Formats: sequence, C-alpha cells, structure tokens
Amino acid sequence: MLKADIMVVGAGPAGAAISSVLAKSWSVVVVDRIEQAQWRIGESLIPAARPLLRELGLIELLDEVSHGCYLGNRAVWGGTASEMDYLRDPNGPGWHLDRQVFERDLLAQAKRNGVQCFTPARLRLLERCDQGWSASVSHRGEVMNASCRFIIDASGRNATVARRLGASHIKADQLISVWLRGSVNGEDSATAGFSLVESAAQGWWYTAPVKAHDASDSRVLAFHTDADLADQSLSDPAKIMHDAHQLPEIGALLRRVEFHVRGAVARSPAHSAHAQPCAGPGWLAIGDAAISCDPIVSRGLFNALYTAQIGAAACDAFLRGNTTPLSDYTQGIRSIQNSYREHLADCYNAETRWPQHPFWHRRLSSVAA
Ligand SMILES: Cc1cc2nc3c(=O)[nH]c(=O)nc-3n(C[C@H](O)[C@H](O)[C@H](O)COP(=O)(O)OP(=O)(O)OC[C@H]3O[C@@H](n4cnc5c(N)ncnc54)[C@H](O)[C@@H]3O)c2cc1C
Repeated sequence: MLKADIMVVGAGPAGAAISSVLAKSWSVVVVDRIEQAQWRIGESLIPAARPLLRELGLIELLDEVSHGCYLGNRAVWGGTASEMDYLRDPNGPGWHLDRQVFERDLLAQAKRNGVQCFTPARLRLLERCDQGWSASVSHRGEVMNASCRFIIDASGRNATVARRLGASHIKADQLISVWLRGSVNGEDSATAGFSLVESAAQGWWYTAPVKAHDASDSRVLAFHTDADLADQSLSDPAKIMHDAHQLPEIGALLRRVEFHVRGAVARSPAHSAHAQPCAGPGWLAIGDAAISCDPIVSRGLFNALYTAQIGAAACDAFLRGNTTPLSDYTQGIRSIQNSYREHLADCYNAETRWPQHPFWHRRLSSVAA
C-alpha cells in the first residue's frame, strides 16, 4: 500500500516543481506515464521566471552549459519587423532550454527533497474516501493500491485528474505545432540568443537556437496551424524545409546558419484550453492542466512554475485545515486566464494581411467576438 499526504500526477515542469516545494513539509508521491523526460519543443523561458525559480529553490539547476541564453525575440508579423530584447529587463536574460535536461534536473531535485517517484506509471482508480483519496496505480506491470489526502493534476493538456473528477477541459481552438530539430554550422551575433517568429497565410512559424546533447549549437523550427488545415504533407521534413525556405526572414536565417534537419517531424497539440473548475476540495490542477497557452505568448513554462508555486501554497493550507486558499487559487487562475486572453487577442489582432484565410479568419473573428 502506497500512502502519502499528496499524490501528483505528471512529472513535467509543473509537477516536478510543486513536488519539490511540498516535499519540504509533506510526504509526496509523483507518477508519470513516461519513464523519463524526453527532448521536446518548448524551449524559451522568459526572464520573469528567474525570481520565481529562486523562490522555488530551483535556480541552481539552470547551468550555462546545458541551456542557452535567451536574449529576446524578433518578429515579422503584420508586415512589419520588430525586435524586443531583454537587455534592460531587471531579471536579466531568459533561457533557451534543453527541455530534456531541464525536466530531468527538476525531477532529480524533487527526489533529493524526498519525493517518491513512480515512472512509467498510470493512475487507474481514483475515489474519495474518509481520509481523502483512495487510488490504484499501475507501475511496471503491477497494480499498487494508494491513498493520499490531496491530489494534484499536473498531467498537462490531458488534465487527466481534473476530467476524471468531472471538470471540463475547455478547448478554445485547434492549434497544432509541426516541428523538427536540426544542426547548424554555427550561430553569429545576428542569430544567437534570439527566437524569430514569422507569420504566413496558413499560420505562423518560429525558430529558436537550442543546445544539442553534446552542448553544440542546434535549432528548432516549428510551424503552427489548425489541425483541420494541416495536410499529410506536413509530416515530410523536405516539405517543411521547402516552405520555411520561402519565408523572407526565417528562410534567410536557415540559410545563414546552414540548418540541416535531424530526425523526423513531430506534431504537438498547441491549442488554448482551461480546466473548469481548476480546483475543489482535496484537489487542484496546475500548469497546462489548469490553463494551456498558445505558444505565441511563450508563457507556458512560466505559468507551470507560477501555478506550482501558488498551488503548493493552496495545497499546504488545505492540509492544515484552511480551505480558503483553494478559492483564492481559482481566482488566481482566472486572472491569469483573463490577461492571457487579452495578450493573445493583441497578438492575433496585429496580423490582418490574410483575413480570408481560415487560420486568420477564425482568430480575427474570435478577437472581434
Ligand atoms: C509547440 C509548443 C511550443 C511551446 N513553446 C514554449 C516556449 O517557448 N516557452 C514556454 O514557456 N512554453 C512553451 N510551450 C508550453 C510549455 O511546453 C507547456 O506550457 C509546459 O510544458 C507545461 O508544463 P506542465 O508540466 O504543465 O505539462 P507537461 O509539460 O505537458 O507535463 C505533463 C506531464 O504529465 C505526464 N502525463 C500526462 N498524462 C498522464 C497520465 N494520464 N498519467 C501520468 N502522467 C501523465 C506527461 O508524461 C508529462 O510528463 C510550448 C508548447 C508547445 C506545444
């Protein structure tokens, strides 16, 4: 029988961060369906995360060998080129992360803080009981009975626990990201440290520098469109490279750094969604399980860490007999969502060149609504 004060489902950035914090006062078990973190897209961590990582006791994990320096964004959007850099940001630059290393290190820190971790593992049954929750977890072919007082949904866009408890995970659009990684011959002062975003008739693109496993330079290249507008040809790296090379800015950058595709094309859901409700007696959802953002705003990782921080405070208070922080938590998520909606509307409102194309038509209509 597995017994803990808190069970966290999902060991991504949100789940690993909240476990690390809560393990200082409570017994915590984490389960994740995958054995260990894999390399994936979602590399740009904004400078505002620095004080948050410090408060969470995680700042030491971000070494300069594994992660690149994120100096700012360049964009060609709405027909104009712009640049936003972090030179004057009081928090300094952000990070272009190696996601696999980041997630591996976050979880290792949680384990050092005393978290018990089961991977690959899946939550099977979940029922309320007098002490909180009784559950069963399958792990390496065995089914373990478990009990906990509080359960945290950190399962990302799946929102596995929230949905099982009757919450809706409300999807606002059908955005997907089709992406690939590649090697480069080298970055220079015009390309290093900057993410580059460029809009096109069918959606929008971005490329960002990241470190490869041997700490050499590499890049991600991603195209975003709606699932129903993405045809089969988008699983062909040659087609993606052909389309990317037609873009005035991204095409020029790829040629300049001598980008060469390594590996297959990946496809990830990238839609906006939120859990309704995102908390209740004995549970809460954090990170993408609570609110998942369009990657155009580069906020997902910050939100994962921030909701881990405020979620940890709410969970801690609940376990000490005070339920008010759970409604404060719900309010906190609502205000993140409101400011996110405004930010997203501002982004899509600024591109009006293709109002007839379904991708932009949908976004301009939802902005107008
Ligand atoms: C294309 C794309 C680009 C992005 N770019 C950026 C960016 O540049 N900057 C940024 O800040 N954000 C970015 N994001 C968003 C960012 O990746 C997410 O917001 C972040 O990963 C959320 O962290 P999380 O821990 O909540 O969820 P996740 O990272 O999704 O982790 C969830 C974990 O739960 C596990 N899990 C899922 N279901 C179950 C289950 N049933 N049982 C057990 N375990 C389960 C998963 O295996 C995973 O380990 C991007 C997202 C996309 C799609």
